[in-house]
Amino acid sequence: MNRTVFVNGEYLPEDQATVSIFDRGFLMADAVYEVVSVLDGKLLEFAGHIKRLERSLSELDMAKPKDFDNLLEIHRELVARNSVQEGGIYLQVTRGVADRDFIYPKDAEPTLVMFSQERSIIGSPAAKAGVKVISVEDQRWGRRDIKTVQLLYPSMAKMMAKAAGADDAWLVEDGFVTEGSSNNAYIVKDGKIITRSLSHDILHGITRASVLRYAAEAQMVVEERNFTIAEAQAADEAFITSASTFVTPVVEIDGTKLGAGAPGPVAGRLREIYIEESRKAAI
Ligand code: PMP
Repeated sequence: MNRTVFVNGEYLPEDQATVSIFDRGFLMADAVYEVVSVLDGKLLEFAGHIKRLERSLSELDMAKPKDFDNLLEIHRELVARNSVQEGGIYLQVTRGVADRDFIYPKDAEPTLVMFSQERSIIGSPAAKAGVKVISVEDQRWGRRDIKTVQLLYPSMAKMMAKAAGADDAWLVEDGFVTEGSSNNAYIVKDGKIITRSLSHDILHGITRASVLRYAAEAQMVVEERNFTIAEAQAADEAFITSASTFVTPVVEIDGTKLGAGAPGPVAGRLREIYIEESRKAAI
């Protein structure tokens, strides 16, 4: 790999891009991130991701990086310099460099790091075959609505899924599914789409917001409420959404096949609508 990446105002070859060992992102996971998907060389849902980034920064009293107003241009430049057709742009802002201390530093300059990743999204095998999930206890912190880089527990959950022969994990708290390890979770019963409502318990997915809007426009019924793993196992179908997977069907939960054990029609239709609409709106 020899990508051009962006670090604090400079475009550099990836092997020359560095951040200080005193960066609070490294020492304290004092950092937030976003992932904007790229399709046909264009950015999907850019405005939504930047709005959520602004909110994450504000919830943590973190200053905006000095290139905040140039983020669209930098995204486009990374897509162009790395000839990305399909994949994503990863963006991370940290509180910056300061001697190690729990107290936020007063005058640290936020660190901004961005890089591209090429990945097949449209033709991914998971979209065709569906994914198998296991349930694990949700042991993350209580502000999951802030998109921080504290991703160790989600990594552990994905490793547990892999060890169990599954593809991903759904997280469960007080008996109810919160969300997937890196995506929002949905079930479908008698044509009704059920997903947990927004709160501090889950990330407010940008893909979730669009998919629920498209579902309503297509006269599908959406119920935002808690559901259990048992209810999910008895559902007709299930799916997940995220910027990097769009809408992806779930075909098995804790070893129980859903419906016919194959991707369902509601997930399939929403995936088609999502791809069509995001393609039209890509910038
Ligand atoms: N929940 C979690 C825990 C996530 O990590 C993600 C993806 N980053 C999502 C939901 C989906 O959010 P989005 O649609 O904005 O990618």
